[in-house]
Amino acid sequence: MANPKTATATPDLEFARSLCGFIDRSPSPFHVVATAVEALEAAGFSPVDLEAAWPGGGKHYVARGGALVAWIDTDADAITPFTIVGAHTDSPNLRVKPQPDMGRANFRQLGVEIYGGVLLNSWLDRDLGISGRVAVRGSGKKKDQITEQLVLVDRPVARLPQLAIHLDRKANEGLALNKQTHMAPVWGIGVAEDGDFANFIAAEAGIKAADIVSWDLMFHDTAPSALVGPEEEFVSAPRLDNQLSCFIALEALLATKGAASSIPMIAFFDHEEVGSTSATGASSPLLGSIVERSVAGRGGSADDHHRAIASSLVVSSDNAHATHPNYADRHEPDHHITLNDGPVIKINANERYATDATTAARFQVACEQAGVPFQKFVNRTDLGCGSTIGPITAAELGADTVDIGCPQLAMHSARELSGSHDPGYLRDALLQLLG
Ligand code: ZN
Repeated sequence: MANPKTATATPDLEFARSLCGFIDRSPSPFHVVATAVEALEAAGFSPVDLEAAWPGGGKHYVARGGALVAWIDTDADAITPFTIVGAHTDSPNLRVKPQPDMGRANFRQLGVEIYGGVLLNSWLDRDLGISGRVAVRGSGKKKDQITEQLVLVDRPVARLPQLAIHLDRKANEGLALNKQTHMAPVWGIGVAEDGDFANFIAAEAGIKAADIVSWDLMFHDTAPSALVGPEEEFVSAPRLDNQLSCFIALEALLATKGAASSIPMIAFFDHEEVGSTSATGASSPLLGSIVERSVAGRGGSADDHHRAIASSLVVSSDNAHATHPNYADRHEPDHHITLNDGPVIKINANERYATDATTAARFQVACEQAGVPFQKFVNRTDLGCGSTIGPITAAELGADTVDIGCPQLAMHSARELSGSHDPGYLRDALLQLLG
């Protein structure tokens, strides 16, 4: 069956430009949450404290580290189902070690861990900034109190220079990079001293180095995201996997009219790139407990909770592989995926994706109703298939789930490429489902 390309929707390039702005403001999972929270609060959403008594129906959100859940249950009754769009906030990158100060040959360098399935070569020869969060000690009587502070150094302060070809004549036959010995960025000249990095971060954050207890800090490409191509066909940006989905889900939630048929909800998880097993990952009880407490907060019983779940839908949105023109043989020949031909429904018989015939149909019908094209992806049968938060969320929550996403190239590169029409298409399809 050929993929239908009879869309009635027109491309929304302004939306793709807004996506670029969202990504540029959000270099770490914590910044994704902060950027989204800013938009939610401007739209009247209020925070819910997991340690406090649950509020009644309304427009609420829960933010925890790199995870965020937001929903509108203003007019819902106790058995109203949920329509949940799930995504992940993390992307593969380089993370600063706890004692990072190191160097050799009169260069000051920073020790890094590799987070997730990084395409190591893509980090070479880029201007790198630093972002994330630090845990900070209080002063005086509050010196044992720890608070969390976001840090953003959004200018080039480090660089990973590639070895000159004269010193590696076989570089173009397959570049081999050792994670321990080849990936430490240079960030200064001279002899490294313990505390250099902490002093730098303290100055940037406006705090005392002695008050920094620990950090979750990472590098990012400082080049701004852009629409590229003669007619701006493409989005060139870091972290499209999966901030593209976060942005679109957020914008769809903000645009819902609050239909009474289901409760619109977005659920962004951290740590997808490293297996989702954490307090803020898709394997955590975070989403399930919020759904349960939302039902209870509106006066629902345990039975009402199970009834609501039984008719809920999770749309797991994560980018899909478009067919790469230079490596078309790596893709399933009868399911080629192209940019700007609409969202991709992902199917895998071995449950690497949670889609089944029924949930695929629900998403396909939503695309048809919204007048946007859609495509169907399966992996080559002789290649291993990636996965998403879809199967994990389905198993944790027990709700019907479909795996979908916008197509892209260069997944897990420091700089990825997607189509500029697809974000608007996916927004319209999600909006059809969210109501
Ligand atoms: Zn992803």
